[in-house]
Amino acid sequence: MAERDSDKPGRDLSGSLMVMVTYACQARCSYCLVSRGPRAMSARTMERAVDLLLTSPAREPQLRFFGGEPLLRFDLVRRAMEYGDARARPSGRRLRYMLTTNGMLLDEAKLRWLARRNAEVMFSLDGSPAAHEACRRDARGRTRHDALLRSLSALRRSRVPYFANAVLTPERLEDARGDIAFLAGRGVRRVQICYQVGVPWGAARRRDLCALLRGLIAEPPRGRQGPIEIMNAHNDCEPVMLSEEVLADTDGALFLDAAVFLERRFPRLRGAMGLGRLGEAERMADLVLSRSQVLERFARTCPPGTPEGALFADNLRVGMDLRKLLRGLREGGC
Ligand code: SF4
Repeated sequence: MAERDSDKPGRDLSGSLMVMVTYACQARCSYCLVSRGPRAMSARTMERAVDLLLTSPAREPQLRFFGGEPLLRFDLVRRAMEYGDARARPSGRRLRYMLTTNGMLLDEAKLRWLARRNAEVMFSLDGSPAAHEACRRDARGRTRHDALLRSLSALRRSRVPYFANAVLTPERLEDARGDIAFLAGRGVRRVQICYQVGVPWGAARRRDLCALLRGLIAEPPRGRQGPIEIMNAHNDCEPVMLSEEVLADTDGALFLDAAVFLERRFPRLRGAMGLGRLGEAERMADLVLSRSQVLERFARTCPPGTPEGALFADNLRVGMDLRKLLRGLREGGC
C-alpha cells in the first residue's frame, strides 16, 4: 500500500522547543487565536524547559520564545538565555534562540543585548500601513506603524539576524504582493508568509493563495539589496495545521503547539494535544510525533460533520495544496 504523506516521520523537531513566555500582549490582532491574559512563565519553569531541550542530541538546539508578547517579559527571556548558555557550555554545545515579537518594545538596548547571544528575531510585520490598519492594532485601536518601522530600522542596524513574519488573510490577498513589496522596500531581506487559520478559505481563495505564493517565489519583490527571500520556498512547515512543534506552556504543561495557538477557535484541542509536563518528560525525542499522529489527535476533537471538523478540513486543505506547490517548485516542476 502506498505510504501517505502524513504517515511519514515529520521533520526532526527534537532539537526545537517553543516556550510560552507570557500570554500578555499589547496588540489585538484580528487573526490572533491565542487566549491572551496575564499568565507568565516562572523562572524555574523556564529553566526546566531549557533542561528538557538540552536532552536533544542536536549540536545547536533551538529555544523559541513565543507569546503573547515575549518582550513584555524580557527579564525572563534574558534569564533563559543566560541559563541556557551556562548549561550548554560544559558539553561544548550552544543553544540557538529565536524571539518572536510584535516589535512594539524592541529597542536598541535590547538589541545590543541580543547581539551578544546566538539569537534571531522573528518580527511580526504584515507590510503596509493599510495591512496593519486592517488587522494589527493595539488595545486602543492604534497600529503604531511608524514606531514599528523605527524598530525595524534599529533591527536592521543591529547585528541580530531577523526575518519578517507576515500573515495573509483571505480578504486582503489582492494587496498581499504590495505588502511584501513594502517590506522589501524597507530593507527586509527575508520574509516568512503565513496564512490566517481558523477562518474558511474555500477552493477559490485557496487557488488564489497558491497562485500568489507561486508568483512571489518566481518573481520576488526587490529592495535596494536585491530580491526579498520568501522563506516558504525552502522550509517544510506545511501543512501548518499538523505542526509537530512541542510547546512548553507557562505552567510547565507540554503541548503540541496547535493547542495554544489555535485555542480561541478550537478550545477543545488542549484536551487532545497534551504531551505531559516539564520535569516528567525525560527526553525531547520522546515527545515528537508524526504528522499522522497529530492528525489523529485533531480527529478526536474536530470530527467530520461538526463545524470544527469542517473548518479544520478547510484549513488543512490550504496547507496540503501549499505543500504540493512548494514541493513541486523545489523539484523544478509546477
Ligand atoms: S498575534 Fe501576536 S502580536 Fe498579535 S495579538 Fe496575538 S500574540 Fe499579540
